[in-house]
Amino acid sequence: MARHLVRLGLVFAAALGSLGLGCARGAIPPASVPPPAATAEATATSIHEHVLSTATATTPAPTPTSTGTAIAAPVARAAVAVPAGIAARVVDRWPTERRFIALSFDAGSDAGYTAQILDTLREHRVLVSFGMTGHWAEQYPDLMRRIVADGHHLINHTYDHGSFTGVSTGRGPQTSAQRHDQLRRTEETARRLTGAEMRPYFRPPYGDYDASVNADIATVGYHYNVMWTVDSLGWNGLSASGIVQRCLARAEPGAILIFHVGAQSQDGPALPALLDGLKQQGYSFGTVAQLIEG
Ligand SMILES: [Zn+2]
Repeated sequence: MARHLVRLGLVFAAALGSLGLGCARGAIPPASVPPPAATAEATATSIHEHVLSTATATTPAPTPTSTGTAIAAPVARAAVAVPAGIAARVVDRWPTERRFIALSFDAGSDAGYTAQILDTLREHRVLVSFGMTGHWAEQYPDLMRRIVADGHHLINHTYDHGSFTGVSTGRGPQTSAQRHDQLRRTEETARRLTGAEMRPYFRPPYGDYDASVNADIATVGYHYNVMWTVDSLGWNGLSASGIVQRCLARAEPGAILIFHVGAQSQDGPALPALLDGLKQQGYSFGTVAQLIEG
């Protein structure tokens, strides 16, 4: 609950003009952002998100972290095209004209609708990405195993959902060593329970990241910092029909949608109608890895 209150705080902070990177960025009007060259069917929100995407992509080279940790070259992985440079690439939409959308569910609090979500996905023969905390995986090992056994994709969402920058929690930034420990404990938990690999995909708790985070995660093999194009706002109390409407209105080629498995959010109950609606719009969908790796 606490982290959701923090997220609400971010919405207000962002509305007041300080550009927040919270989960509800999609709700922020593109007040001071000039319109970019975009496809005609892109919505105002997606334009805003695309501008943010461009802005993050041109972020200057990362500065050394406070601990002075040496930054090594990225770990090469055969199956994935590794972006150039020493910093993870922030992806909040993949540049493509293909009518393909990545669906992602974050799991960091309760089990909530996880089983129901997995049933729906199996029925529709759809694979998605799950942003998992190591703590959630340890609390719900059977669900964790089913997620992987069903063929879904894992994203490292840290061990205990602490903010790497501290922006949303007011606790100050974590050190490089603390960040690496969070990532390692989570990937070890996933490997022990399921044998699955989480690298090279990372999702920051609260959407909090900066250049030092992108450098730190890249040194241990996380080359993609996975943000999102559309936040369902289920965590913020939106009804199932409201979630469906919101996501269908904002769907665009290459979009990444974010949902949550927890009982506080109606994302699970909204999923069947959302999948049907996206199909009617001519979209196919899958995991973040499928979106990025083509
Ligand atoms: Zn989260």
